[in-house]
This record gives sequence, C-alpha cells and structure tokens, in this order.
Amino acid sequence: MFDIVLIPAFADNYIWLLKSECSTAVAVVDPGDAAPVLDYLQHEKLTLGAILITHHHRDHTGGISQLKRVFPEAKVYGPADESIPEITAPLTEGADVKLPWLGDSLKVLEMPGHTAGHIAYSGDGLLFCGDILFAGGCGRVFDGTMKQMAESLQRIAKLPEKTLLYCAHEYTEANLGFALWVEPENRAIKARQKAAQRVRQQGKATVPSLLSLELKTNPFLRTQIPTVIAAAEKWAKTPLNNNAALFAALRTWKDRDYD
Ligand code: ZN
Ligand code: FE
Repeated sequence: MFDIVLIPAFADNYIWLLKSECSTAVAVVDPGDAAPVLDYLQHEKLTLGAILITHHHRDHTGGISQLKRVFPEAKVYGPADESIPEITAPLTEGADVKLPWLGDSLKVLEMPGHTAGHIAYSGDGLLFCGDILFAGGCGRVFDGTMKQMAESLQRIAKLPEKTLLYCAHEYTEANLGFALWVEPENRAIKARQKAAQRVRQQGKATVPSLLSLELKTNPFLRTQIPTVIAAAEKWAKTPLNNNAALFAALRTWKDRDYD
C-alpha cells in the first residue's frame, strides 16, 4: 500500500504522488509540470520510478520529458489510444500497472469522453480519474462524445460508495455553484458548498472526494434523479429520455450558460 501526496501545479491542477516507506522510488500521476515534482523529490530525497498518464492534454503531460531527463529509468504509462510520444508502456482496459516497489498495483479502466482515449487507474478503494470527474462536476467533452462521457461517469457511479476519487483539478466551488442551478433545494449541495468554501479559505484542497458524497451532490452522477431530469428538460425545452441525452443537456447547459 502507498501513501498519496498532493502536489499543486499551475493555477488549479493537482499532481498525485504515490510513495511508500519501503522505497525511495515514487510514482506520479499526470505531471503537467515537472518543477513542483522535482522540488518535492529533491526535498524528500526521493527518485521517480513511474509516470502514470490519464490523457493527452498538456496540463497532464507537459512535465514528462523534463522528468525523464532527470530520471531516465522512469517508466511512462498511459493510454494506448492517444498519441503521447513519451509513453513507454501503452495501456488498455484491464491492464495491470505493477508498482512492486510501492507494494501495490493499479488496474486500468478505459473512460473515454473528456478525450477519446482517456483512462483511469483504480486501486484499493481509490480511483485516479484525471479529468473525467471533478468534485461536484465533470470534465468537458473535447475529443470524445457525450455518450462516452455519460457512460464513463456511470461506470464511476457504480464503484463502491467509499471509493476516493483523486481528480486532477480544483474546481469544486464553481462546480457546486452549477449543481445548485440544477438542484436549488438540494441541502447536501448547500452544505458541501459551505464546507468547500471553508476548506479553500484555509488554502487546502477539496479533493480527493468520496464517491458517496458525489452521488448526493454531483448533478452529472444524478441523471436518474427526477428533479435533475426536470431541470435538464426545462433547460433543453424537450423531453430527454435516456441517460446520454440527459447528460449532454446538463453538460451543454453548464458550458453555454455557467462557465
Ligand atoms: Zn484534460
Ligand atoms: Fe486537465
């Protein structure tokens, strides 16, 4: 089992670092920037054994080449279906990422939608979900489809409720603002918004997030809830009779009117 350290990058990215007392080698997930990772490794006298990538966007991959210059032996895992030249270990659904020096391994789940080849890494009670799900919200749909994204989010919704979701951005406060557009009377969202504001005022991160809380507060995981359906149909001005259509309406509503 490993410990997980949060390394902030850019304005609102989070790089997750996996380490264990048994080894000085660590792994990082989505190092968009090398500098904060190298600072941490130097300060803690650690080395880099593996880089895990969820998708091709620069804010998740931009640090790979510099990290490889300093740690040429680091293995670079990432989605087989995306073009990321630095990847040395391309991954598809069900692949095992063995990290023996951390005494653990992670399993690959293909979760397209934000990008066409986006993958997530699942471990014991946790998921590194990149830009698929954010606390209180989800990623935009770029080179994947609305249907893919809806299905990937449903896949997350079906994981055990105690799963910790390690997403790659701090967007929680803004996301909960939109969640309240969709469900103005939802007390769990209001309470979560207050809690998130307090956490941010202390300069701390609101993630990882617990799936059980997402299921109560994240509109993109609540596409089966009557009030959410009614709100989406009201915005779309048309009946929405399947999950993908409902998701697409919510996502488009947020893109056009809120963000
Ligand atoms: Zn992205
Ligand atoms: Fe991102």
